[in-house]
Amino acid sequence: MKLPALNNETVRPAEMNRRDFFKSGAAVASVTLAPGVTLMAFGGEANANANAGKRWGMLIDVNKCATDCNACVTACSKENGWKMDGNPETDAQWIRKVDLTHKQTGREASLPMMCQHCEEPPCVDVCPTGASFKRADGIVLVDKHTCIGCRYCMMACPFKARSFVHEDVEDQAAHAPRGKGTVESCTLCVHRVDKGGVPACVESCSATGHGAMMFGDLNDPTSDIAAALKNYASIGLRDDLRLNPGVRYTNL
Ligand code: SF4
Ligand code: SF4
Repeated sequence: MKLPALNNETVRPAEMNRRDFFKSGAAVASVTLAPGVTLMAFGGEANANANAGKRWGMLIDVNKCATDCNACVTACSKENGWKMDGNPETDAQWIRKVDLTHKQTGREASLPMMCQHCEEPPCVDVCPTGASFKRADGIVLVDKHTCIGCRYCMMACPFKARSFVHEDVEDQAAHAPRGKGTVESCTLCVHRVDKGGVPACVESCSATGHGAMMFGDLNDPTSDIAAALKNYASIGLRDDLRLNPGVRYTNL
C-alpha cells in the first residue's frame, strides 16, 4: 500500500504536539509555575554557566554502598522536589537503588543508578526539539521549556534514567523546575555544582559514613576523582555501547 506523502496538511503526532505547544504561547515566554519558578530558568541560563574545560562526573564504590541504605535517593527526592509513590511504572527515576546478585558466586551488590551523563548521549541524539542537551561541562539536562513530552529520549536511554511527569506538580523548588507532561532526570544537582557544591546524593552518602560516592572534575588531574580513577579499576555501565558515561563504578 502506498503511504500518502507528507505535505503541509499532514502532521506527524510529535509535530502536532509541538504546534499546539507553540500555539499555546508557552514557547515564547517563560512559563510561571509558582512565584519565582519558571521553566525558562533551567535552559539557556544553566548552559551559560558551564565551563568547557571541565567534565563533571562521579565514581561510585559499590563495596561501600550498603544494601539497606536509601539515603542518596531520599536526599535527591528532597533536594529536587520529586515524590516516590512506590510504583515503578510511574515513580520518578532521578536516582534509584539497584540490587544485584552474581549468578555464579552469589555475591550481592547494591548500587545507585541515575543519569550517567554520557559523553555521547543517545537521549540528545533522538530529541526532536533540542530540549535534551549536553552542557559544555558534560552535564546532560532537559530544558523543560522546549520539551514536548514525546518520550523519545526515554526510549533511547539504555539506563532507564529518565521519567515522565504524569502528575500535577506543586511546591516546586526554584532550582529544579518540573512540568507535567515533560521528561526529567538527574541534573547532577547543577544548581549546586555551579556554585561550587556537590550533588545532594553525594553529600548524603558522605553524611551516612559510607562514603560510596565521589564527585569531581574528571578532566582535572589534581582532583580526587581523577586520582582515584587512575589508581583503581572502574567501569562505566554498558561500556560496550561506547557512550563514555561520566558516572563510573568500582568494585562492581
Ligand atoms: Fe541520556 Fe540516559 Fe545517558 Fe542520561 S544516561 S545522558 S538520559 S542516555
Ligand atoms: Fe549507597 Fe551512599 Fe547511597 Fe547509602 S547513601 S545507598 S551508601 S551510595
